Amino acid sequence: MKTEELISASNEFIMNTYGRLPVILVRGDGVRVWDSDGREYIDFLAGIAVCSLGHSHARVVNAIKEQAEVLTHVSNIYHIEPQIRMARLLVENSFADKVFFCNSGAEANEAAIKLARKYAHERMKGNKYEIITMKNSFHGRTLTTVAATGQEKFHHGFEPLPKGFKYVPFDDIDALEGAISEKTCGIMLEPIQGEGGVRIPSTDYLARVRRLCDEKGILLLFDEVQTGMGRTGDLFAYEKSGIEPDIMTLAKALGNGFPLGAMLAKNEVASAFEPGSHASTFGGNLLAMAAGIAVMETMLQDGILENCREQGAYFVERLEGLKTKYPVIREIRGRGLMIGVELSCEGGGIVHEALKKGVLMNCTCGNVLRFVPPLVITGEDVDSVIDVLDEILERL
Ligand SMILES: *Cc1c(COP(=O)(O)O)cnc(C)c1O
Repeated sequence: MKTEELISASNEFIMNTYGRLPVILVRGDGVRVWDSDGREYIDFLAGIAVCSLGHSHARVVNAIKEQAEVLTHVSNIYHIEPQIRMARLLVENSFADKVFFCNSGAEANEAAIKLARKYAHERMKGNKYEIITMKNSFHGRTLTTVAATGQEKFHHGFEPLPKGFKYVPFDDIDALEGAISEKTCGIMLEPIQGEGGVRIPSTDYLARVRRLCDEKGILLLFDEVQTGMGRTGDLFAYEKSGIEPDIMTLAKALGNGFPLGAMLAKNEVASAFEPGSHASTFGGNLLAMAAGIAVMETMLQDGILENCREQGAYFVERLEGLKTKYPVIREIRGRGLMIGVELSCEGGGIVHEALKKGVLMNCTCGNVLRFVPPLVITGEDVDSVIDVLDEILERL
């Protein structure tokens, strides 16, 4: 079938939940992907912060292939060897003691919310169930994670939503303190807001949130679905803040494209879950674990984090150069390779133009260009993308 026919079949058979760009990507290799007409693109979106090791990374591909030939799925009513290895890798490289595996970011956050409520039910005095989240946040699309998401546009039309969430402005410690009530059991936030426009809080904000949680005896939950797995230049974004959460969620880059999510916690908190508390048929699936182990081992051994920091700094420096040339660029925000370029105009048109010129990126919040490329990009990749942006902005 021709590309046009495929796109019309896509519109005929698939529910209309995404505003899709008019291309079909059929192959990938490292930082590059190709469409159904053979056109090449440099991918600075990476499936939205998913393919952090690049497309079709050999070690991940081989791990999935080898596992597929041996055993692909058994029930979680048995012990699963690659799950043990993957959990150990996560525990040994984070604050956490225990891991629950699932298949996506929303599911990881659902598990985190359930654990926080269960812990509060068993171990906190009074009737505490409320979780404070941030305005402009994003935690997923299931009913409960939509309710946790502090953006009305995601709520509209789906009411009544599950109760028990309260929203405060991000990076405002006084508003947060004022919102804590006798019903509050936890605070949940992204260390850097992703969908909300790559918003980085003030240096001491996360440490002050931690202190507030300790004073009030409530839990701190970090949604690191986007910031985790090296994206910000550290394995997890919380590392830079000098504090640790009680619960953390991961997904996106965890399987480099194989669906995989995880919810991690300290022993004290994790012990509120017992057999029957929570479950997932596919969570911790053997293929997902094979992919996850390959991702973790590569990320820890291959200088990926160093490259992320180095290329992130270089990319921001080149973007600052564009900013001095084009006043339409209002602000550049980023850490590692999680970078937002806020414009004083809508960004959708630029995304379309870039696509035509062979660059994949996206726009969030209407006016923030978002770059979350594979962490393995080179300086030449950055230069190519800067050249394309320069051409587009010049003609704007
Ligand atoms: C993408 C994202 C989610 C949702 O993940 P899904 O895998 O799409 O369910 C949740 N939280 C954050 C911070 C995200 O970026």
